Amino acid sequence: MENKNYIVIVQCHIVKERCSGYFCEAAFDQRSGEFSAYPKDSSLRTLYFTCGGCCGRATHRKLTNLLRCLKRKEGIEKEQVVVHLSTCITKDNFHAPVCPNLDYLKTLVQEKLGLDLIEGTKVSEKSEKLRKSGKYKK
Ligand code: SF4
Ligand code: SF4
Repeated sequence: MENKNYIVIVQCHIVKERCSGYFCEAAFDQRSGEFSAYPKDSSLRTLYFTCGGCCGRATHRKLTNLLRCLKRKEGIEKEQVVVHLSTCITKDNFHAPVCPNLDYLKTLVQEKLGLDLIEGTKVSEKSEKLRKSGKYKK
């Protein structure tokens, strides 16, 4: 994570119809959950957007646009960028099971665009207990 200074958080479009995204943002602010590896005192940049709806293909278009803007406007290279797929995409949770298009999303981000990817954002203690108990499958 040392050379990363631009963090993109991709969230489930369907879940975001009712979720403000607060818990993702708060997890980043607190550097908790899947953000715990980032230093607190740095001037990290963040950008939040949704996958655009099933099948998630808009993720590729949005990231392509972002990478072009970052390079042209600020000289930021894609090696400085890391993508987090929100926990509501990557884990069984209160809203729904794991995204049925998770592998496709990972292919778009990692294979097609060559970006580093981390699965998850906020990690809820309650949900982790339910995962351990088997109520949540992943
Ligand atoms: S992980 Fe939680 S806070 Fe983040 S978008 Fe999904 S439901 Fe909303
Ligand atoms: S592709 Fe996955 S993350 Fe995107 S809207 Fe559909 S279920 Fe949600």
